[in-house]
Amino acid sequence: MLNKKSVDDINVNGKRVLCRCDFNVPLDGDRITDETRLVAALPTIKKLIADGGKVILCSHLGKPKGPDATFSLAPVAKRLSELLGQEVKFAADDTVVGDNARAAVADMKNGDVILLENTRFRPEETKNGEAFSKDLASICDVFVNDAFGTAHRSHASNVGISEAMKAEGKQAAAGYLLEKEIKFLGNAVDSPKHPFVAILGGAKVSDKIGVINHLLGKADKVIVGGGMTYTFYAAKGIKIGNSLVEKDKIELAKEIMEKAGDKLVLPVDNVCAKEFNNDAPSEVVEGDIPDGYMALDIGPKSVELFEDTLKDAKTVVWNGPMGVFEMSNFAKGTLEVGKFLGTLSDATTIVGGGDSTAAVQQLGVADKLTHISTGGGASLEYLEGKTLPGIAAVSDK
Ligand code: AMP
Repeated sequence: MLNKKSVDDINVNGKRVLCRCDFNVPLDGDRITDETRLVAALPTIKKLIADGGKVILCSHLGKPKGPDATFSLAPVAKRLSELLGQEVKFAADDTVVGDNARAAVADMKNGDVILLENTRFRPEETKNGEAFSKDLASICDVFVNDAFGTAHRSHASNVGISEAMKAEGKQAAAGYLLEKEIKFLGNAVDSPKHPFVAILGGAKVSDKIGVINHLLGKADKVIVGGGMTYTFYAAKGIKIGNSLVEKDKIELAKEIMEKAGDKLVLPVDNVCAKEFNNDAPSEVVEGDIPDGYMALDIGPKSVELFEDTLKDAKTVVWNGPMGVFEMSNFAKGTLEVGKFLGTLSDATTIVGGGDSTAAVQQLGVADKLTHISTGGGASLEYLEGKTLPGIAAVSDK
């Protein structure tokens, strides 16, 4: 378990608490199109309010190179006010911690909440720059890191500030969301109930190689689907037509297959088309993919094989779609796998963020799964067995 200070270990009554959240939500103009990350942050914020803290929230949003109104967090303050049922004052400030933000903090009473401007308005943020870390540390008495989605990055608003706080003899604690993510991902990987089955999909072997290697050492079966399948096919000598392939990873795929033996489960049939287009006529093909065709989804026999592999599982970790799920005609494999996971009532089922999260939400089975991670890159790095700097920087218990 996480041997780090948590929000339950600190006293925030009457104190200024800076809480780093992950409010990096998709926006359509001013409208938040997916508020999963806001909802996921509420338990920690509510706890800090209930304990009488002066709650100063901060986050990044998108990738602005400096102050840029299109990346302002103002819409998040508005929606958070509604979700919390109390005002979340927005401290507009191009330098994030300038005069306006400092005045807003000075005005706070116990239980008040304010939100600072996008931390990426400061160029030092992504460089873990000391000046910004110190600015942030200067407006708070306690720091809480609840941003799992950025825990794999060493930035000023998670790592730099934690170091600055500790250097000043102040505390940096982990929020509930951070704890929850680590509890589920950590238990699944480090002390899973067996059988433990990992499902890995998505476009590229090169993106997932670290996860495949790490999980091959932990899981009983590793199911591979999606675009990276065809690099494995090429390594096995199965014809792949025009399917996605990373030619420079074919040797690596061979090595993985040798190491994995029958642990690795590949699709046995695929939905193929002549064009990368939702309206392209498609057919299910077993084995060799004919010239001129590309595989865009796994076929029904593969779904059956995967379900059979998963049916007795007690722990399942899933990252990456089984096909081009953004196109409705090639989404079935991903959706069927998601649906089947929802029926495994006896298993801990974890979705590791990114596109597979979008898929289970689209399908409406998200609430039947045990845990949907809020972090794409962070959960991948965690599943690779890496230490996440944002978590490592928090004060030890
Ligand atoms: P990743 O970000 O690595 O998880 O990859 C997700 C992307 O892989 C999605 O945009 C999918 O459309 C894409 N993808 C999955 N299967 C295939 C496939 N068979 N051919 C091409 N792209 C695919």
